[in-house]
Amino acid sequence: MVTNNPLGAPLDTFITGVQRPFLISGPCSAESEQQVVETACALQNSGIHLFRAGVWKPRTRPNTFEGRGEPALDWLMTARRETGIPVSTEVANTQHVEACLHAGIDVLWIGARTTVSPFAVQEIATALEGTNVPVLVKNPMHADLPLWMGAIERVQKATGAPVWAIHRGFSRYGQKEYRNAPMWEMAIALQTAMPDLRIICDPSHIAGKRELLEQVAQKAMDLGMHGLMMESHCQPEAAMSDAEQQVTPAQFEALIQGLTIRNAHIVPADPANLGALRLQMDSIDEQVIELLQARMNLAREIGKYKKNHGMTILQMRRWKEVFKTRGAWAEAAGLGPEFIETYLEQVHKESIRVQNDEMSQKKPDNK
Ligand code: PEP
Ligand code: MN
Repeated sequence: MVTNNPLGAPLDTFITGVQRPFLISGPCSAESEQQVVETACALQNSGIHLFRAGVWKPRTRPNTFEGRGEPALDWLMTARRETGIPVSTEVANTQHVEACLHAGIDVLWIGARTTVSPFAVQEIATALEGTNVPVLVKNPMHADLPLWMGAIERVQKATGAPVWAIHRGFSRYGQKEYRNAPMWEMAIALQTAMPDLRIICDPSHIAGKRELLEQVAQKAMDLGMHGLMMESHCQPEAAMSDAEQQVTPAQFEALIQGLTIRNAHIVPADPANLGALRLQMDSIDEQVIELLQARMNLAREIGKYKKNHGMTILQMRRWKEVFKTRGAWAEAAGLGPEFIETYLEQVHKESIRVQNDEMSQKKPDNK
């Protein structure tokens, strides 16, 4: 079991001594020794503090590339020897932790799909007991602050080294601009609850596409987040996972150079900070619009059904029921009756417009 810092200096000093932004980059997945080493060497002059590559890949669906597993840890260590840059990978169970400790991996991270399970996080924490390895804890898939904090606390109790958080956005129902909704208010709430915690932003998994990386990274810097984890690959288009969100090491370097790093701190210890409150409001409005879009998509589907079954758009019984139930929910939530009436009328009007649009399409749908 490796208990000493493989960098040869207290990791605490190494990590806390670094100026913002703390930079982590490397491929989503370690695919081959050549790809890992080539990417790491190409990142050598970009100023990164930590190299990343996933060795065990938690994929949503089976029969997709699930990583090269344990042998890939040696490739990371080769990259480390060649570049002098410390290396990190994702762990999801005891066996992963032990293999990483044995190989000498410098920093571990816990992925979003693992943070959701206190059993899994506790298993990792127990495997880390008595060691001195820094750990980065990604937010859980869904926006549950106590669950994220609980995972951080479990790991903090186990390792003697710093534990940081990674904000990688949250899964959300419906159409969306981002792969994972940033919900910046969650990072702010975490910083408020744990003022000494360092939070790194992962624009790659928030954005899901290269074009949005810069804007997300800039926002994270404007919020005063401590650093960035961004995926890079020597041949992004050919990547075996997350191809659309990866950039070349040269593009990564250019993107970082183009960022404005402000000292101004919006990520606050003070929950009454005006900037923080406005950010929360922006994020809520964004979610309201996404939900309205999801509602209109359903209205369109219902429009197709009505058309194919010879039904009229306006169904008075259903409309009365909607009006009554939503009115009661709004009242219980303390919203003014006039406001909710106007809102429902407008939503209904828009649903009718969408369904009219469907009805006026010439060909019947074969649904
Ligand atoms: C990753 O960093 O490659 C990864 C799988 O991320 P997440 O856990 O955020 O989905
Ligand atoms: Mn990835």
